[in-house]
Amino acid sequence: MSYKNFPMVSRVIFGRGSFNQLNDIVAPKRLNTKSPFIFLVDDVFKNNTWLTSRINLSYDDKIIYISAKEEPKTSQVDELVESIILDTKERPSGIIGIGGGTLLDLAKAVSIMLTNQGKTENYQGWDLVKNPAIYHVGVPTISGTGAEVSRTTVLTGPIRKLGINSDYTPFDQVILDPELTKDVPKEQWFFTGMDCYIHCIESLNGTYLNTFSQSYGEMSLELCKDIFFGESLSKEEAEDKLMMASWHGGMSIVYSQVGVAHALSYGLSYLLGTKHGIGNCIVFNHLEEFYPEGVKLFKAMKKKHNIELPQGICADLSDSDFDTMINISLSLEPLWENAVGKNWKNTVTRKKLKELYKKM
Ligand code: NAD
Ligand code: ZN
Repeated sequence: MSYKNFPMVSRVIFGRGSFNQLNDIVAPKRLNTKSPFIFLVDDVFKNNTWLTSRINLSYDDKIIYISAKEEPKTSQVDELVESIILDTKERPSGIIGIGGGTLLDLAKAVSIMLTNQGKTENYQGWDLVKNPAIYHVGVPTISGTGAEVSRTTVLTGPIRKLGINSDYTPFDQVILDPELTKDVPKEQWFFTGMDCYIHCIESLNGTYLNTFSQSYGEMSLELCKDIFFGESLSKEEAEDKLMMASWHGGMSIVYSQVGVAHALSYGLSYLLGTKHGIGNCIVFNHLEEFYPEGVKLFKAMKKKHNIELPQGICADLSDSDFDTMINISLSLEPLWENAVGKNWKNTVTRKKLKELYKKM
């Protein structure tokens, strides 16, 4: 047995208001005056001086606002990298991603592609990145995906939705300031928070489970129960706890894997553009067979927070659409193996996946 030797985020700061220290944290990493810091910021903050006034730009530093309406694409990363190369005198000193999973993943991918040749799509997969990325910092503004801590950046490419999983992907620095999440709309809070909950359920019920993953998964699950099903948390307490739940949930899957909900929701996302959080919820709602207890609690939390999920999103799809989603889903072999075991191909059939998709 050969164990995997994973890197982790090397530095992390946690606390309400810790975002104020951003400039002091990155300053020593400046290579020279021609080598700027590039801030990739969710455009939801474009006119939000409460946040942006705390980003000090010096020399050629630049903020690029990016919409999170659509999830990151490999072509988008290619364009960003090209424009950064054209606009800067020297390779940037660092990339700082500020936003949700979308912006965090873009920041990771851009920092990798600034030092690796060719197209981003060629690096989707496991351990294909050859050169270390440039210094990259993640500042989550919504909690749940675990993208701030994970070893992957999930991208949609021309033929698949798949992460760049590599030792160079994790952030060099993460700033966890729960105050930054204060204005997240309620539904989005629930959907991205449920991504974290589903990470826990898939990790804790997977065949890849080990004590490392289990301990993080259990901590995260307890926090999720407190936040989404407990009674007496203040808004601030809930924000603090969800930020840590996201971190622990991400840590749990670093050393295990996600499972059925993610395998199916990647299909929805690829074909229909359904976003990750809501897509996972739409799928998970129908997974009693795989995760009976987890789905029961999910439904109770959904009810408690009056969340309505879209219905019938697959109603008008053609056979070839179903085939596309099924192909994407079945290609995620480690997820199925984690969820069902080594012999997953005996029970996870195309017919079964089609039946599941048809319920959505
Ligand atoms: P997101 O980044 O797409 O953001 C969701 C919405 O919330 C957007 O409209 C955004 O503008 C808004 N928003 C973010 N912060 C806000 C704030 N403070 N106030 C108001 N609005 C705010 O959503 P997400 O669920 O965080 O991320 C989803 C993405 O993460 C997907 O692309 C998915 O593939 C990826 N993901 C990555 C990993 C990983 O390990 N790399 C894990 C899970 C998911
Ligand atoms: Zn997820």
